[in-house]
Amino acid sequence: MALIVHKYGGTSMGSTERIRNVAKRVAKWVRAGHQLVVVPSAMSGETNRLLALAKDLAPTKSTASIDREMDAIAATGEQVSVGLLAIALQAEGVQAVSYAGWQVPIRTNSAYTKARIESIDDARVRADLAAGKVVVVTGFQGIDADGHVTTLGRGGSDTSAVAVAAALKAAECLIYTDVDGVYTTDPRVVPLAKRLASISFEEMLEMASLGSKVLQIRSVEFAGKYRVPTRVLSSFTPWDIDLQEEAQSGTLITFEDDSQMEQAVVSGIAFSRDEAKISVLGVPDKPGIAYRILGAVADANIEVDVIIQNVSHDGKTDFSFTVHRNDYSRTVDVLRSKVLPDLGTDRVEGDTHICKVSIVGIGMRSHVGVASKMFRCLSEEGINIQMISTSEIKTSVVIDEKYMELAVRSLHRAFDLDAAPA
Ligand code: ASP
Ligand code: MG
Repeated sequence: MALIVHKYGGTSMGSTERIRNVAKRVAKWVRAGHQLVVVPSAMSGETNRLLALAKDLAPTKSTASIDREMDAIAATGEQVSVGLLAIALQAEGVQAVSYAGWQVPIRTNSAYTKARIESIDDARVRADLAAGKVVVVTGFQGIDADGHVTTLGRGGSDTSAVAVAAALKAAECLIYTDVDGVYTTDPRVVPLAKRLASISFEEMLEMASLGSKVLQIRSVEFAGKYRVPTRVLSSFTPWDIDLQEEAQSGTLITFEDDSQMEQAVVSGIAFSRDEAKISVLGVPDKPGIAYRILGAVADANIEVDVIIQNVSHDGKTDFSFTVHRNDYSRTVDVLRSKVLPDLGTDRVEGDTHICKVSIVGIGMRSHVGVASKMFRCLSEEGINIQMISTSEIKTSVVIDEKYMELAVRSLHRAFDLDAAPA
């Protein structure tokens, strides 16, 4: 018997029929002797619907007091889900009780719309489990120190589930979702992409931050920090498949040190169209320039990703970096108003038609020449690399967005990730 956390996404919760199927699947685990905590998302489309209603009435400029109400509204989606699922479980003959985040409580900071979990009180949940109940806890939400309802940001139910599993020291956290696991890359771009039976936590963290949308990145951080064995698996398998088979399916996030595994050098290819490139041309090449430019950007709370500074000519240089595409025009505004006048240039160029393609693998730590193999592959396809950034276990390049699919497909093949054709 083990304590297991299940998380179900919005699609699984999308209708009463589907909720009944979730209840049947959970009941199967209970009958096999396990203790279950279930964390569901809102019914699919519900969070969007609620936020659209709120936005329809809200003034254009968002303030903390508007965001407070946004969270109070958005959190209701999950509250409906937990109640419905608890009823469906009882209809299956399983004892169940539902809780909203504040009832557990799941304590967060006060950063409305992107709150972070600070602590979870496990006493109430443990008492119910001991009494033989399934406990259904809302995803996505919590309560701050002043008693205000908060939400964790879109996709936050993944994080709730892993955090609950960490607090309860659960044996495993199973994330039931629309995809049947983590793939070497997005199968919509590369049909020969393969599902990984396991992926190391570090690789998963890179994949999530580099654009793979399988899990909310905060949930991966939690899994790593508390070493929660977390598995991503399909919610589309019939609820009555063999439990052992289900328990082994999908992709397990692992924490073993690399030496135990026969590790592929590159485990996956990630990509993202979410960035934009900004170049400041003809800035003086002297100490403090990077700080002047990026300091002002950071002060505006804008996150910078890839950075490049070119060699100088006649004491002048060009400085380029990428930001999230949503922050592009704000960044240019900040530069024009706060930075350029002092630097003696007014030349700032932007490019929103870029993408970032990354190779990820903990095997890169112990193999040389991985990055150069990437560059060779791209050059053979005639793809120009605009920027490069590396870390111990990834290499990212910024390229023209129109070559994204070609780049991903070629790299997938070059690093032997293609599945044998069926
Ligand atoms: N319902 C929330 C959303 O749509 C949280 C989640 O599903 O993870 O973002
Ligand atoms: Mg999700």
